Amino acid sequence: MSTTGDTRPRTVPKPAPRPTPDTAPYWEGTARGELRIQRCNSCARSYFYPRPYCPHCSSDDVSWITAAGRGRLHTYLISHRPAPGFGEVPYAIAVVELEEGPRMMANLVGVENTPEALVLDMPLEVDFEERGDQSVPVFRPAGSAS
Ligand SMILES: [Zn+2]
Repeated sequence: MSTTGDTRPRTVPKPAPRPTPDTAPYWEGTARGELRIQRCNSCARSYFYPRPYCPHCSSDDVSWITAAGRGRLHTYLISHRPAPGFGEVPYAIAVVELEEGPRMMANLVGVENTPEALVLDMPLEVDFEERGDQSVPVFRPAGSAS
């Protein structure tokens, strides 16, 4: 019988995202505190997540823009299951509708992650959290930044 102890580290860092060629401009933006999304030059609609083609009209004439970083809480779910590296439970996974139109998933900070505190349509603003080598967008209630 093996007597080898458990040598896994006790604290697991939150998983860090790995940029791909399609998402590199996005992560370059977050590193500078900018939330970048893509905008189609053919139909003028914005979208997220990063893709080389517009999901609305399939055009490949697309550019990167810096979003204002403002949005509203579209929906959320509260996870009561501890996930490695995600700290305390419960935590909310939110779908935020950006002012520019696209929706993105993010964690919510600066607010209790409870159904009482999370009001649908509440105004939110982007903030950034270090995760490994990357800076990851999170959202907080608008005006709550210290
Ligand atoms: Zn388009």
